[in-house]
Amino acid sequence: MNRISWNQYFMSQSHLLSRRSTCTRLAVGATIVREKRMIAGGYNGSIAGGAHCSDEGCYVIDNHCVRTIHAEMNALLQCAKFGVPTEGAEIYVTHFPCLQCCKALIQSGIKTVYYAVDYKNHPYAVELFNQAKVKVVQVQLEKSQDDETKQEFMSNLLDKLAETNMNKEEIQALYKKAELLFS
Ligand SMILES: [Zn+2]
Ligand SMILES: [Zn+2]
Repeated sequence: MNRISWNQYFMSQSHLLSRRSTCTRLAVGATIVREKRMIAGGYNGSIAGGAHCSDEGCYVIDNHCVRTIHAEMNALLQCAKFGVPTEGAEIYVTHFPCLQCCKALIQSGIKTVYYAVDYKNHPYAVELFNQAKVKVVQVQLEKSQDDETKQEFMSNLLDKLAETNMNKEEIQALYKKAELLFS
């Protein structure tokens, strides 16, 4: 039996949430966890009932989409709405938090930030996390064992094809397609 780790479990949840994002600029998901329990989740989206960027295009001012509430902020606001304490909690985010979210996370008592991918990591955000003694840990999403087996099979198959006299361009196109499928 291959049991998924807590880190992978919560990070997977954030990646699932990111697929609900409506802002076309970046799909982000965030999960707030306390004592190994998910207490809130959020994704990049508009206010409830508002127009979606995915329908009407982003509302961009100074290179930022002002329509969107960030995933981390949405998760925190869900806690505010339902009166759930965030003191001492942890957050799992798909991307390194922006400066605004960084400050909100610190101020709401979040003690650990787990993020999957670096994203324009602002040096001041890094400094503030340090100063507030918030632990920041990168947790990359691992592929499932099933996916790994499939990827290995496909890559072996393509290598074998490359040894035949098949057209080089066609082979390259297949390699590219396989890469996209598993990225
Ligand atoms: Zn947008
Ligand atoms: Zn943010």
